[in-house]
Amino acid sequence: MSATTQCIKCGELKPALTNPPFRAGTKLADLGTEIQQKICAPCYRDWINMSVKLVNEMRLDTTDPRGQELWLKQMKLFLNLEGGSTDPWSRHLDKPVVIETTGGVRVRATLLGATADTLTLADFDGGTIPAGFEPSASARGSATIARDAVKTLEPAA
Ligand SMILES: [Zn+2]
Repeated sequence: MSATTQCIKCGELKPALTNPPFRAGTKLADLGTEIQQKICAPCYRDWINMSVKLVNEMRLDTTDPRGQELWLKQMKLFLNLEGGSTDPWSRHLDKPVVIETTGGVRVRATLLGATADTLTLADFDGGTIPAGFEPSASARGSATIARDAVKTLEPAA
């Protein structure tokens, strides 16, 4: 019988990871154990897919300590670990959203990442980056915006 877990990301009872995602003895071992206990295997797979996008779109360099820190932060946010759930926007990660800025722009895009100060979005409707967003020069046309320039952000219908 394979183990299941009550997943804190999707809220469902689903198969657990067979092994913790980080090796014992590394500095991430405890986090790996926590993930194995709290996150189901399908949700962790979603994170891996999301992680690839983040590395590409946010130009995350995971060999650099700052890049690693940001990567970990995005992972905790995405998986609802450690207060990620207190961020009202974390549940919209990797989903189509409609964002309205204080500059009066209203556009549909995909929410890729969130830090304390900025949001990163991609796949802007129409393919061009609207006013108020700072392009991050990537193939998918991602761009960031300061959180305080965001008026509303809601799931796209
Ligand atoms: Zn899950």
